[in-house]
Amino acid sequence: MDTLESLLAAIAPTGKSREILNPATGAVVGLAPVHTVDDLEKAVSAAQEAQQGWAALGHVARSEVMLKVADAIDANAEALAQLLSREQGKPLNGPNARFEVGGASAWLRVAASTPLETELLVEDENGRSEMTYRPIGVVGAISPWNWPMMIAMWQIAPSIRMGNAVVAKPSEYTPLSVLALVAVMNTVLPAGLVTVISGDREIGAALSSHPSIGKVMFTGSTATGKAIIRNSADTVKRLTLELGGNDAGIVLPDVDPKAIAEGLFWGAFINTGQTCACLKRLYVHDSVFDEVVAELTAIAGAMPMGEGTNEDNVLGPLQNKQQYDVVARLVESARKGGGRVVLGGNPDTSQPGYFYPTTLVADVPNDNPLVQEEQFGPALPIIRYSNIEDAIAMANGVDVGLGASVWSADRSKALEVAARIEAGTVWINSHGGVNPMVPFGGAKQSGYGLEFGVEGLKALGIPQVINS
Ligand code: NAD
Repeated sequence: MDTLESLLAAIAPTGKSREILNPATGAVVGLAPVHTVDDLEKAVSAAQEAQQGWAALGHVARSEVMLKVADAIDANAEALAQLLSREQGKPLNGPNARFEVGGASAWLRVAASTPLETELLVEDENGRSEMTYRPIGVVGAISPWNWPMMIAMWQIAPSIRMGNAVVAKPSEYTPLSVLALVAVMNTVLPAGLVTVISGDREIGAALSSHPSIGKVMFTGSTATGKAIIRNSADTVKRLTLELGGNDAGIVLPDVDPKAIAEGLFWGAFINTGQTCACLKRLYVHDSVFDEVVAELTAIAGAMPMGEGTNEDNVLGPLQNKQQYDVVARLVESARKGGGRVVLGGNPDTSQPGYFYPTTLVADVPNDNPLVQEEQFGPALPIIRYSNIEDAIAMANGVDVGLGASVWSADRSKALEVAARIEAGTVWINSHGGVNPMVPFGGAKQSGYGLEFGVEGLKALGIPQVINS
């Protein structure tokens, strides 16, 4: 499976199928199966059966198998990246397709290697209490289209490490990436342990109400997260919800605009802005506003955007028409609302593909839709402030709170501001970097539950206290 052709052959559907198109060109990438609720039932039954033997292996043996799975991913990394680039649109180079496949393998290795000790809670003259984590059983893993392989792995790796089986449902926009990743994993894993069901939101809804699924790991929009909470209520499922964000960045007056410009750029535009914890609103102090805008414009204007398989590009198209329309609508609302478009803003509609140019809009009023709604694309509103209290209030003035950043030459001042921001993660002088050993999760309507690290493993187990 070390070529694109062999990967596509390995996941070729036997039944009903549909074409998946490259968002940069409209060319057919491959065929995805159209699975039904019947297929979901079969996958859940197979998962229940496989899970027993897998759980019985114990942590050490499971970890060994998982490391071999990571080796298999590494051996097929280039073919996986080629497929991901064609299906999702993201370039091969930069922090994009090759980076994502490498990340999927790295996350798997860390989930395999992270120690999880029995916790001694109390030990005194009255006895001893300790806590361990038992497998949940079958986990449903519902993932989005922006980082399809990486996010599916964030869900699958801790699940299997903790002795569970997984039924994964990728986004209907990017099923091939997850089907191919799991096909490679399944050259090592026992049959039935991880199955991909490729279907639309109906399959997602059936999965999130399925009585034999004990937990749903979900990454996607806040609206879908709410539907999953409702659908899972009758079976009291455990949930980890990584939902939408609208991350603010606050630039303090003491920064060196040149020094922070590249960090601001990648914070906002990684994956062409289609990242949950991207910088989506930038608040800049009046005294450095013009300089920050100028430095950011210089960097952003020089970053090549185009078809993902061209090795020169570091930015790609929007993944789908629906997201393209959201970005176009929000930039128009900012323009009409008095924002100054200092870069981009005028898509070339004569070209194929959902390309929206890298766009910076300065002096956008804070109540404009481009600031208040999640754009999830390459268009950054830049808002002027003169009082830090106002900036913090504006940063906290939305009902989501995934990430945020503070930019300053003074670490202690930055930390003071960071502590007042209502977000699951706050970065100082960077934005959006994640680490497989550091827990990640949202505040407010960005969801609940943590992924990564020991906390992430615990979230895929049922805590059990033994009193003796
Ligand atoms: P989406 O909510 O439209 O879809 C996500 C997944 O849910 C897809 O697989 C979809 O088929 C499925 N789904 C849709 N309706 C469902 C239902 N009723 N029941 C069960 N499943 C259903 O999200 P998207 O457009 O694919 O992704 C973009 C969103 O994801 C953005 O809001 C972004 O911020 C968020 N996101 C969050 C994180 C995070 O870690 N917090 C990471 C990446 C993306």
